[in-house]
Amino acid sequence: MASTAFGTFEAPAGWQAVDLISDLHLQAAEPGTFEAWRDHMQGTTADAVLLLGDVFEVWVGDDAVAQDPFLQTCAQVLRDASRRMTVGFMPGNRDFLVGGAFLGSCGVQLLQDPTVLVWGTQRVVLSHGDALCLGDEAYQRFRVVARTPDWQAEFLAKPLTERLAMAQAMRAQSEAHNQSMVSFADADAAMTRDWLQAANSQHLIHGHTHRPADHPVEGLPGAIRQVLSDWHVNATQQRAQVLRLHADCRRERLPA
Ligand code: MN
Repeated sequence: MASTAFGTFEAPAGWQAVDLISDLHLQAAEPGTFEAWRDHMQGTTADAVLLLGDVFEVWVGDDAVAQDPFLQTCAQVLRDASRRMTVGFMPGNRDFLVGGAFLGSCGVQLLQDPTVLVWGTQRVVLSHGDALCLGDEAYQRFRVVARTPDWQAEFLAKPLTERLAMAQAMRAQSEAHNQSMVSFADADAAMTRDWLQAANSQHLIHGHTHRPADHPVEGLPGAIRQVLSDWHVNATQQRAQVLRLHADCRRERLPA
């Protein structure tokens, strides 16, 4: 396996708290989830909010924003938040086509996947998590292709309506694929260990699986893998959680 290149995010001395959020799957059809996220972005006392992927349910190109009032509202939330704190964005498997133009216009910093958060004595590996789920071989094949500049250029050159239709077809296909699997793929144990060792870290945080929990890491005594919560706030569900890291190494899960 090719060795993984890690990005680095250095937290300035003096920061007290960093919020980590992923898998919001923001979409116009889930206004409650949007409102919970907006309220957190407006109200948090953290020095930074790092968004670790699948913030948006689907992203077919930055040019979609001009024609989509919901995405414009999301952009405004990001813009307002980035005026008073650091906002970072790591692409997920749904929104890997979010571009530098959009993030730049919102004052949001792009984070490579994976990134090592360096903060005082803390070294925390941050990832969306899809790259670790090796058990889903069909998805991993798609991921390799879809992350190439050629595939992305070809996709983004198609008319917007065609891209939206393709994204919808891919989502339907992915849901059928997930239902056909006996169990959803989880982070591969050996790859998790390799990443932590390569990054000289004892702490991995990722989303993607929608199964929030803390896990020990096989073969690395003392290491921890923390899985972030997905967000669904509607009539029947209230599931929205922020993982907050503190300068003194405390970590807590907060309801949004
Ligand atoms: Mn995902």
